[in-house]
Amino acid sequence: MDHLPVFLTVEDRVIVVDGGGTVAARRVERALSAGAKVIACDPQPGDEMRALIAAADPRLTFRYRVADRDDVQEAVVVYGASEMEERDENLREWADEFKVLCNIADAPEMCDFITPSIVDRSPVVVAISTGGSAPVIARTLRARIETMLLPSFGQLSQFVGRFRDRIAAKIEDGRERRHFWERMIDGPAGDLFLAGESEKAAQKIESDLEATAQGKKAPMGEVYLVGAGPGDPDLLTFKALRLMQRADVVLYDRLISDDIMSLVRRDAERIFVGKLPQQHVMDQQDISQLMVKLAGEGNRVLRLKGGDPFTFGRGGEEIEALAASGIPFRVVPGITAAAGCSAYAGIPLTHRDHAQSCLFVTAHGKDGVLDLDWDVLIRPAQTVAIYMGTSNLNKLVDGFVARGVDQSTDVALIENGTRPEQRVVTGTLRDITEKAAAAQIKGPAIIMIGSVVRLRDQLDPAKAADAEDVFEMSLAANKSTSPS
Ligand code: SAH
Repeated sequence: MDHLPVFLTVEDRVIVVDGGGTVAARRVERALSAGAKVIACDPQPGDEMRALIAAADPRLTFRYRVADRDDVQEAVVVYGASEMEERDENLREWADEFKVLCNIADAPEMCDFITPSIVDRSPVVVAISTGGSAPVIARTLRARIETMLLPSFGQLSQFVGRFRDRIAAKIEDGRERRHFWERMIDGPAGDLFLAGESEKAAQKIESDLEATAQGKKAPMGEVYLVGAGPGDPDLLTFKALRLMQRADVVLYDRLISDDIMSLVRRDAERIFVGKLPQQHVMDQQDISQLMVKLAGEGNRVLRLKGGDPFTFGRGGEEIEALAASGIPFRVVPGITAAAGCSAYAGIPLTHRDHAQSCLFVTAHGKDGVLDLDWDVLIRPAQTVAIYMGTSNLNKLVDGFVARGVDQSTDVALIENGTRPEQRVVTGTLRDITEKAAAAQIKGPAIIMIGSVVRLRDQLDPAKAADAEDVFEMSLAANKSTSPS
């Protein structure tokens, strides 16, 4: 580590910012938000700085001139943000003279400290530094952390802080106290608060605190039935990711991609409960019983489901057993395969000129027998998305044709949708069976029937991505002369 990370207390102390442009304005804003008295200096402030001056924060003093020795003498921190060598050198010299911490923008060799990238969930603040070597990495990391910390995280920390003294008084043992805090923040009380139920959250903390103080263990087991989307990890919800990071045990099946499994808490126990077609590893009842048992032992059990748990996912059946046993559970929706495949293959599910409705159906009847409401399926001006249908593709096609649907009706088969190995086979009712056989579809696949399939020629994101690459390359070429 080349630098000492600290968070400076600057309330009511002076910070000098020399410069009037955008960088200077950012420094002023940050210093003000940390409670400092700010002296900003520049003969010709730019628009952003002028807006700050106009806001008339009593803690901001603006001087329409270059910063001088006297300004620096007053300060605890000084920022050079004018991009003018002479001004920067003067600041550096005076900072040395008065032992003031100094930072000059874009001149690491002149800096006493680095200005980190920050994620602000005050009072929680995350600061990221790459030691000045690669600010872009710091910004990328910051974006990732932003997505992990809900905007209300800061309020949560303030909220639980209210209980600090009570907890300290009621739970003497340090380790037990730590466990209590963990359960409170990362457990039902924290969830209730983040869901906007602060009163219930407070009640939960009170009752847990009472139970813990009296030596009773609060029941901890819980089941999260979480939709993991169709495969691309970027399609997980924040909530899914949060619960994945919290699980003690995870139950998953073959619809869950390795990329997604790698985001589950590293120490969580993993149990494969999946079914390969025709090969039952564990039946539904066994899975439910296993969840009841694990949660009963106090575990946080994560049941990861492909797509959305309540869309052809038998999620309802799985939680019936939990409800009957009084095990607390939560259901988190996910992006269902039809929606994911539609977006990634460039086939809208509805479109004003093509389809005013969309049906999601499963072709997986008992013992391979199709049990479909054909009158509804063959209606015009709609899209039919068929789950679990590829092994019955020829029967499905025959069914449509036998009921008079035009053989030139468009059909798409999307295999491994949203994953890197996604394949899309398009055709018509006349030739799709042949084309699918030739393509040897093996992975999970959605069948889409309807004229929306034709729009793929215009809307395929893969083609758009190529165009974007070219655009980005030309941007990079334009930028290559300016410093990063
Ligand atoms: N609950 C899931 C569906 C489970 S049924 C959801 O909401 O998506 C399993 C069927 O979903 C598969 O047979 C296939 O038809 C479809 N499926 C799941 N993931 C898919 C993917 N990545 N690409 C295409 N189809 C997928």
